[in-house]
Amino acid sequence: MATLEAPKNTPVWVDTNRCKACDICVSVCPAGVIAMIPEPTSTLGAMISVRDPESCIGCNDCELSCPDFAIYVADKKEFKFAKLSDEAKLRAQAITKNNYRALDA
Ligand code: SF4
Ligand code: SF4
Repeated sequence: MATLEAPKNTPVWVDTNRCKACDICVSVCPAGVIAMIPEPTSTLGAMISVRDPESCIGCNDCELSCPDFAIYVADKKEFKFAKLSDEAKLRAQAITKNNYRALDA
């Protein structure tokens, strides 16, 4: 199966052609890195978006949980990930409460 080539200096990236906006990756991200944004032309009117890449801890949970192979995480040898901060945890909780929608969308 073809996957996107890893972009440089990027912790997590998406293939928007594959994403069907199921919210699963957002629900498992402990750091509030990803969230859904409105996208009228896509399935369910939403699209996954990487909002706070600097908070990504490289846990891989998003990639492992995506049923459509639409989100990818950099190799730990290629990218220095963040540590999980209280701010990131609180943002993840707020995104969940916001029905997985981006807080600024
Ligand atoms: S789990 Fe995959 S298909 Fe679902 S919203 Fe995330 S990237 Fe899209
Ligand atoms: S690797 Fe972990 S912290 Fe980074 S976006 Fe995916 S689920 Fe969130």
